[in-house]
Amino acid sequence: MAFEGLTNRLQNVFGKLRGKGKVSEDDVNEAMREVRLALLEADVNFKVVKDFIAKVKERAIGQETMKSFTPGMVIIDIVNKELTELMGGTQSKLAKSNKPPTVILMAGLQGAGKTTSSGKLAKMLLKDNHRPLLVACDIYRPAAIKQLQVLGEQIGAPVFTLGDQTSPVDIARSGLQHAKENGNDYVIIDTAGRLHIDEALMEELRQIHDVAKPDEVLLVVDAMTGQEAVNVAESFHGQLELTGVVLTKLDGDTRGGAALSVKAVTGCPIKFAATGEKIEPLEPFHPERMASRILG
Ligand code: GDP
Repeated sequence: MAFEGLTNRLQNVFGKLRGKGKVSEDDVNEAMREVRLALLEADVNFKVVKDFIAKVKERAIGQETMKSFTPGMVIIDIVNKELTELMGGTQSKLAKSNKPPTVILMAGLQGAGKTTSSGKLAKMLLKDNHRPLLVACDIYRPAAIKQLQVLGEQIGAPVFTLGDQTSPVDIARSGLQHAKENGNDYVIIDTAGRLHIDEALMEELRQIHDVAKPDEVLLVVDAMTGQEAVNVAESFHGQLELTGVVLTKLDGDTRGGAALSVKAVTGCPIKFAATGEKIEPLEPFHPERMASRILG
């Protein structure tokens, strides 16, 4: 299960603290040394770890903690709050345009889970009584269009395609027009990915962006790739002004690094968490729930 290693290690550290009636500054320092190692081992960005530990220490070594009858609990509470802050504090909601349709551009590397997440997002919107339109702009990966059509049929959402001989920019433009004519209040544009970030991919995304003027640019990243996911997010953000991240494959044995670092490194909030290959509604990402889950 995701975060298992991190959760076990943190529980160990806090177990020791909890047993103590009083904690000294040395106890806090020792605990923080162990938390630091646990976070690094979970593949959390080293700068993020450094700042995090400094913040927790500053609060934990304050008067209140030391005087408390349950100092261990106070420190766990501080860690919980700081973890929540690290992941964005509060839930970051999906944008909604005053002038429908709300346009959502889905970007990401190949295999991150873009098409699957587009389907899950549509399913979430359907559940909330919206009328999403999926637009198939990945004309390069064989079967990508078909995959989206199958998904659309499965969940009952229309899919707009012009095949693989029209440029993605034209498909986006026509898809938007189609949505306006058919009363779709959300448009989800599934774009092509590449194995690596390259200029051609970015240029195409920028052109689609110019035409579609999205209210949301969601980057889909694979949580299992840890720091690589954070690097990818940083590169995309530098070129495309992301509005949010969809973190996929949280059902796998991800060590947690991506979930804990993306917001701090890029400033871009995680808006959704995805689990499983089955098309279930996408889950909004709740920093406070994730922090509690990590702490076990
Ligand atoms: P794309 O190239 O970014 O469009 O990626 P796909 O949506 O085709 O997904 C690539 C693979 O990852 C497929 O086999 C999906 O079933 C799988 N996948 C996508 N999202 C998840 C997820 O949240 N959890 C798991 N376990 N697998 C996922």
